[in-house]
Amino acid sequence: MILKDDEFGEVIVRKSPLAHGVRFSVSTSGRLAMSVPKYTSLFLAKRFLNSNRKVIREKLPVKDPREQKSRDYQKKLLMKQAKAYLPYRLEYFAKLYGYKYSKCRLSHAGTRWGSCSSNQTISLNIGLMKVPEILRDYVILHELAHLHHMDHSKAFWQEVGEHDHNYKMHEKKLKMFNPGL
Ligand SMILES: [Zn+2]
Repeated sequence: MILKDDEFGEVIVRKSPLAHGVRFSVSTSGRLAMSVPKYTSLFLAKRFLNSNRKVIREKLPVKDPREQKSRDYQKKLLMKQAKAYLPYRLEYFAKLYGYKYSKCRLSHAGTRWGSCSSNQTISLNIGLMKVPEILRDYVILHELAHLHHMDHSKAFWQEVGEHDHNYKMHEKKLKMFNPGL
């Protein structure tokens, strides 16, 4: 449920069968989120919001409603670019170096550029579309190497180094960028 509020913009209302009271938090999009007991009406949710306005203002980093919209837009755009690029780039390098993965997932939340799960799914952060191509490629080669080494052992880095001779510098440069939106 979304509650429109003049001060906080769109407020996400999550009904939870386990919630006893009302809890406020900030969603990854910067919106205010409130979890409420299952049978809470919108009217009641609004009342909870009104009576907690001051605390929320002081304690929670809710994004400006105008900024929420521009973040949504930016995310949509990045997702579109990422979809048309990342899975193909991954496939390209996998074929080139003989890797087998099962699936490519695109992610956006969190603080990671990529990950590789034990079922061979490679996740790539859509924020990669904002970094230079050479760093993007490094992340892809890094995750591909995890298909053979599920750790950051010496053998792992050796394999990364075979495909990206400057991986140390790329790893360092990547820290100047933030995967979050
Ligand atoms: Zn890693």
